[in-house]
Amino acid sequence: MKNTLLILLLTFTTTIFSQKFTEQDTLRGSITPERAWWDLNYYHLDIEVKPDEKYISGSNTIRYKVLEKQDVLQVDLQPPLKIKKVTQDGKELEVKSNGNAHFIHLKKEQRKGDFNEVIVHYSGKPKEAVRAPWDGGFSWKKDSNGKHFVATSCQGLGASVWWPNKDHMYDEVDSMAISVKVPKGLMNVSNGRLRKVDEATNTYHWFVKNPINNYGVNVNIGDYVYFGEKFEGEKGTLDMDYYVLRDDLEKAKEQFKDAPKMMKAFEHWFGPYPFYEDSFKLVQVPYLGMEHQSSVTYGNQWQQGYLGRDLSSTGWGLKFDFIIIHEAGHEWFANNITYKDAADMWVHEGFTSYSENIFLDYHYGKEAAEDYVIGLRQNIVNDKPVIGPYGVNQEGSKDMYYKGSNLLHTIRQLINDDEKWRQILRGLNKDFYHQTVTTQEIENYISEKAGMDFSKVFDQYLRTADIPVLEYELSENVLKYRYTNVIDGFDMPLQVFLGDQAHALIPSTEWNTNKIEGLPEFKVDRNYYVNSKKLN
Ligand SMILES: [Zn+2]
Repeated sequence: MKNTLLILLLTFTTTIFSQKFTEQDTLRGSITPERAWWDLNYYHLDIEVKPDEKYISGSNTIRYKVLEKQDVLQVDLQPPLKIKKVTQDGKELEVKSNGNAHFIHLKKEQRKGDFNEVIVHYSGKPKEAVRAPWDGGFSWKKDSNGKHFVATSCQGLGASVWWPNKDHMYDEVDSMAISVKVPKGLMNVSNGRLRKVDEATNTYHWFVKNPINNYGVNVNIGDYVYFGEKFEGEKGTLDMDYYVLRDDLEKAKEQFKDAPKMMKAFEHWFGPYPFYEDSFKLVQVPYLGMEHQSSVTYGNQWQQGYLGRDLSSTGWGLKFDFIIIHEAGHEWFANNITYKDAADMWVHEGFTSYSENIFLDYHYGKEAAEDYVIGLRQNIVNDKPVIGPYGVNQEGSKDMYYKGSNLLHTIRQLINDDEKWRQILRGLNKDFYHQTVTTQEIENYISEKAGMDFSKVFDQYLRTADIPVLEYELSENVLKYRYTNVIDGFDMPLQVFLGDQAHALIPSTEWNTNKIEGLPEFKVDRNYYVNSKKLN
């Protein structure tokens, strides 16, 4: 029931960017009339996966609530997969296709408030992942024993690359069953809880009790072994379940010690894990990893950092397994709080990049966390704004990660009250619990709860590619300063040091002059993400 009002802005921004984007982008990325009239309630994805043939077949049952009377319903599925037939109440329906968008012509009267179902039967050889998870699809691999090791990943290109669904983020299904038949000797791990294994057919029946976004749904097939633990958390006992390849069990038992440490830190800062009913899982996959809801996938080669690298170059990035911490951080920011439009993807990646520093803060202290998040700035390129164009399934700059986390770190300084900041982060996860959101809602919430207007700060860092520069002149007893490279009206307060004395400045685009004592050394507090330039 995460369907909320249409964003009027969509139409407007689609027009602006219309030269660059195609009709297919709009069919995919906007809330079309054939999507808007119905609200997703339930999916049952029921498929067979044949790794030998790289072939899948089956159906998705789509149950929806009628919001407004209409008779054409859009479902998305990407070629080379083909829809075989669509039925409602046992009657086959006509489907008119336009690329990836398929328009189902309903016969039955759709009365407002009714719950109806369509069943979409499909099959084919789905797109093979080129460079999972970024250029995703199906990864058809083998483990070191020559057994099939198969996984899906589809963020960005969309879940319709492997199953038919309403492939837009604004409307999350309320619950979902996932049944996957796999060859004997292999196991399928999907999202939620394993309810039943049909031994005769080797079909694994999973069930997700909570709302889930499309790209969060996954199948992982392999010669898995299981281990697990109980975590005593804020909402009671949480099952933490781990599925890894048979030969990697010992390595996993060592490496996954970060998982309960992660849960401890994130529950403290972000509030209870959002999917207790569905458990938390780590599932080994043949690619780097992805934030699949309640079944976070792992392929970081049992190494610290990001495949053994420290993204911050400070040493702190090697204190944890990046994929466990980062992808699990997405359970709060991506899976609990989900963007409506890919343009606002920083809400996922900015906050989750920030979560890495929160993990360090909890376990290694504030200074370690500061070193790390500031160290991440070396990865920022300022090529274009963090927020992308709306309505065309298009993300903004990759800076959404490191600039996003540094923006949040700067806001922490501005609030200057760590407990208040923590309550804001927890409040976001409580007040937007299991919802899809716009960046504007998140920005307004932070300003409101902080009691400070951060709108210019968000505009500067999210809607331009420019980093503020504090220009200053320092002479005997006089400090002159102003902001350049900023939007109109930007006057973010700043802490600076004169010698070792901290001072608060409120610079603007006009020159300000402060009297100071003598000619001390001047520097901007490193925790604020601004550049400085001495003019004399
Ligand atoms: Zn991420």
